[in-house]
Amino acid sequence: MGRQMSGGETVLVTGGSGYIGGWCVASLLQRGYVVRATVRDLSKESAVRASLAKIIDPGNRLSFYAANLTADDGWDAATEGCDYVLHVASPLGVADPKDPNELIVPAREGAKRAIAAAIKAKVKRVVMTSSVAATSKGVGGADWTADETVWTDPSTPRLSAYAQSKTLAERAAWELLHTTQGDTTLATVNPALVLGPVTSGDFSESVQVVERLLSGRVPGLPRLGFNVVDVRDVADLHIRAMTDERAAGERFIAAANFAWMGDLAALLRERLGDKADKVPTRKVPDFVIRLAGLFDKDLGSVTPSLGHKHDYSSAKAQRVLGWQPRPLEETILDCANSLIATGAV
Ligand code: NAP
Repeated sequence: MGRQMSGGETVLVTGGSGYIGGWCVASLLQRGYVVRATVRDLSKESAVRASLAKIIDPGNRLSFYAANLTADDGWDAATEGCDYVLHVASPLGVADPKDPNELIVPAREGAKRAIAAAIKAKVKRVVMTSSVAATSKGVGGADWTADETVWTDPSTPRLSAYAQSKTLAERAAWELLHTTQGDTTLATVNPALVLGPVTSGDFSESVQVVERLLSGRVPGLPRLGFNVVDVRDVADLHIRAMTDERAAGERFIAAANFAWMGDLAALLRERLGDKADKVPTRKVPDFVIRLAGLFDKDLGSVTPSLGHKHDYSSAKAQRVLGWQPRPLEETILDCANSLIATGAV
């Protein structure tokens, strides 16, 4: 029924329990779609529903399916009868695991499972959540800005296991699509650092950037900077990439504003008053972070980017899909206030 209408069509979102996945589910419901969400374990359903209820009442338009990136079970059942798939699920990891395959294998094999099931079910389009980690010009070195024509070289020395996993998973997705007969098309959304409102205390690792600043869990401000994009705008770009004909076969970077940790801290202190009392003001010299990085895995993986402005352009998403990301202030303040409201800080 209703394959022409946006309302009434069915979309599968993998990783519905996650931060971006949850906002994709909410945005799809807001636009009239029928939504299925995969979770690894169906016991998560009630927590995901409680978190979503803060944004929208799904009525009877939301259902849950069990599927793990590491196993074949469940993927066909979840995908059968869907018009579209948003493949969002993938393991995160700021700290590098001892064996990069801990991230690479579930990311890559899981993408292949989800996309193979989508092709089999003849869905119109798969939108895969990749990352700017798959569009990087390298670790350390000079400042640069990258666009969608750039592919991260997975053999780059000191490249994080996470960046390897996202690059290899995205590559595998394109390869599978090109080598399998079918009418399904693929687009990828490659987000920068995703921040914005959380709806539960169980949030993505990316949100720790704001959480650590607010709770004073960082001794000072390292010279680290990132392009920041709002989770609501990332969900919106997934839906644009899902429905726009011109998105077929394309990658789209979802990036908005480059900010240094010091900029984020200053914004929080200026705008949140005493709620930002613990936000550090002191700058930490690079050598201190490098030294600490020898002992702390979280820090160790970011030390190569100290002081470098590695930025990403979303001009293509804006030009081709009419996507318009919101200003940094709204993203950071909504993120901070939601963390305070959920009691996380
Ligand atoms: P998140 O909240 O941690 O969500 C990750 C999702 O992946 C969760 O639903 C998780 O399920 C699922 N998942 C992980 N391992 C799985 C497995 N073996 N089988 C099935 N599901 C599994 O993180 P997020 O930030 O929303 O990330 C979602 C996607 O966006 C990922 O592909 C990530 O690489 C990408 N991304 C994120 C950012 C960012 O800054 N946050 C930036 C660029 C790209 P459980 O709830 O069961 O763990």
